[in-house]
Amino acid sequence: MAHQSIASKGIASKGIASKITRRRLWSLGLLLSAGLTVGISACQSNPTGGQTQDTTEAPTDSAESVVNLYSARHYDIDDELYEEFTAETGIQVNVLEGKPDELIERIKNEGEQSPADVFVAVDAGRMWRAQEEGILQPVTSEVLNTAVPENLREPSGEWFSLTKRARVLVYNTDNVQPAELSTYEDLADPKWQGRVCVRSSENVYNQSLLGSMVETNGAEATETWVEGLVANFARQPEGGDVDQIKAVAAGQCDVAIANHYYWARMAKSDDPADIAAVEKTAVFFPNQADRGTHVNISGMGLVKGAPNSENAIAFMEFLVTPEAQKVFSEGNNEYPVVTGVDVDPVVAALGEFKVDEVNVASYGRNNPEVNEIVNRAGWQ
Ligand code: FE
Repeated sequence: MAHQSIASKGIASKGIASKITRRRLWSLGLLLSAGLTVGISACQSNPTGGQTQDTTEAPTDSAESVVNLYSARHYDIDDELYEEFTAETGIQVNVLEGKPDELIERIKNEGEQSPADVFVAVDAGRMWRAQEEGILQPVTSEVLNTAVPENLREPSGEWFSLTKRARVLVYNTDNVQPAELSTYEDLADPKWQGRVCVRSSENVYNQSLLGSMVETNGAEATETWVEGLVANFARQPEGGDVDQIKAVAAGQCDVAIANHYYWARMAKSDDPADIAAVEKTAVFFPNQADRGTHVNISGMGLVKGAPNSENAIAFMEFLVTPEAQKVFSEGNNEYPVVTGVDVDPVVAALGEFKVDEVNVASYGRNNPEVNEIVNRAGWQ
């Protein structure tokens, strides 16, 4: 009941969201378009049930125990998991979905009044951005520190990884033998001239890959590598990772850099075109003989000034339980961060691989340098 009254504030009172699911109370796009004056007020009762003034106050009514999640992840499966958390703890999960940068901006604008407790985003670079913007606070939790490997958490505890995604090579099986592939570094070799596809360097996945290379190989070597890579492009960067995989399948290029789950998603697709593309291609995990394949993460952090911080930490700890990890990682064909959890069969069929264990916080830390490198080296 209390939740429906929320709907009667803000969003629904503006007549733009008549049907809001119980937990998906907020729609960032709508709120943003309505202006940032609309406050979020979870679980405050509105006895009249009618229109009320927008409130800018954080939730103070503790009649119901809540955690307010600002999430840049959008998978239906997540909702089931949140319901499970509520069933176990009695803590209601309110979800505000949006693009990561919008969510960060929103939390900044809401300032001390922000109801945000937990921030979830995809890519270490974005978690780093949230940290740099000062919206997170460190968490000291034995549960989190034990479950999440050290390289997959921010050293001071400002954010923790939830899932892993590998940035792999996808190659055309007619034109490339797996033995010809070895490392990311090798893609700068002249033997790949006119054969490599990769999306724009503006994409955060590529920026994080480059951040990891700066950390391990140094800025100078990374710049030389980018120059060689650009010289080997089959075409100017266009589209997303799926477009690179399709271009490889179509023979426009022989090898592409892409996140593994896009290939897995296509392998499970009902679209015959996706299946045809998968049949022409295969996944290769680079750098197995040295540092391992670059992984990125989706992550979570406790928001600075979180009004329900105890609930928030309980929620974060819940998300690293084996049960939650299985659901959370399978939702996007990713790898769990905790050990001993099964992965999706299609992902498992890609095989086990050595992971580059450089700390994920280095990706964002090196980002300013990465931007200079790609600009100088001409990776659009
Ligand atoms: Fe993605």
